[in-house]
Amino acid sequence: MCGIVAYTGNREAQPILLDALSRLEYRGYDSAGTAMQNGSGLRIQKKYGRLNELSRLVQHEPVSASAGISHTRWATHGEPNDTNAHPHLDHSGKLAMVHNGVIDNYQHFKALLEKEGHQFKSSTDSEILAHLIGEYYDGSAKHGEERLVDAIKKALSEVEGTYGIAVIHTE
Ligand code: GLU
Repeated sequence: MCGIVAYTGNREAQPILLDALSRLEYRGYDSAGTAMQNGSGLRIQKKYGRLNELSRLVQHEPVSASAGISHTRWATHGEPNDTNAHPHLDHSGKLAMVHNGVIDNYQHFKALLEKEGHQFKSSTDSEILAHLIGEYYDGSAKHGEERLVDAIKKALSEVEGTYGIAVIHTE
């Protein structure tokens, strides 16, 4: 089973996220990652293997940010590797998502999104959901938080399967 942790507040987010992920290690996982939002965009760091691998990467390249999302993955679609690890970005690169569960009808949305010009980096079901939310966000006339919440609700009303997600957007 995977683990999901998100943080927003006044403190440095990344140490909090890594500490929280370490508390979820007992659940089992094959890879781990974080997406940090520091005002100038999203920074994704993810690694196949134990959490130590991600911690080592973060030690070399710490990201100062007060908001972020993080994940430990238990692969269901796509082999365990760095690319398939979460978080996944959307088409615009402005939205990142982590997902626990399985999207049963992801092939349907993958085909639709490919027709719209979307390209996918991973072989996960989860990346399709990130792109679907991004597609609805980008096509929305709404503003602010409502725009993102609406896009998430619309995408989740269409996908079939199981999901716990965390989403972060640069706007
Ligand atoms: N189905 C997703 C994947 O294979 C999420 C797996 C999980 O719950 O960790 O990436």
